[in-house]
Amino acid sequence: MTVEAKYLSRDAFAERVAKFPAVILPLGATEQHGHHLPLGVDIILAEVLARRIAEATGATVLPPMPFGYSWVWRDDPGSVTIESRTLEDVIVQTAESMARHGVRHMFLVNGHEANGATMKYASRRLWDNPGIKVWRLFYPNLAAVMAEHCDSPTWHGIVHACEFETSLMLAVAPELVDMSKAVREYPPQDRGYFQGGRPMGELSRSGVFGDATLATAEKGHAMLKIFSESMADAVREICAGD
Ligand SMILES: [Zn+2]
Repeated sequence: MTVEAKYLSRDAFAERVAKFPAVILPLGATEQHGHHLPLGVDIILAEVLARRIAEATGATVLPPMPFGYSWVWRDDPGSVTIESRTLEDVIVQTAESMARHGVRHMFLVNGHEANGATMKYASRRLWDNPGIKVWRLFYPNLAAVMAEHCDSPTWHGIVHACEFETSLMLAVAPELVDMSKAVREYPPQDRGYFQGGRPMGELSRSGVFGDATLATAEKGHAMLKIFSESMADAVREICAGD
């Protein structure tokens, strides 16, 4: 049985929502992820997590939003960036559409860290709406999970095309990963990026921040299991509070 709205008839969708009035909107980005990973890493991973959460809870997965705020990669081949206010409107209007069909909670399952502030502002815009609430899910306890399962440090807390993301991709879509092109790159600390407006594309030659060479499918499977179970728990608890 599919959990994805795009494969459901109107009647099948209505039936699922009557039983469990929650949907999941996967969010991500279409942006460069080094020479060894595809452009869609963030959305591919968000969709996998969304499906697992839906299977565990009864929520229904909406078609994913493939674009995010990716300004930092604007000059790298294939990257698409939209304004954060555009994404905010997409989230709010998607939730308003769902509210008309009896959906009480919309969960954003996000694979692209830079969407975080936008997600927060969208959920605030709807917080006083009696019909629907928007909730934000992004790799729970990320630092602790990485500390336990990854062998290389992040580049100043940034997770991009590194051991972490590469391991997750090896677990879900190994055919899309070219480990012969995986590299280790830790660019110098950069004031322009952290305190100014410099795009990340000017910092890393490979587009990798961290050590992708240490990635394995085993690490990816272990971390995905932790994330999907923790996110499913959050969905259940929030929906049980109604
Ligand atoms: Zn990513």
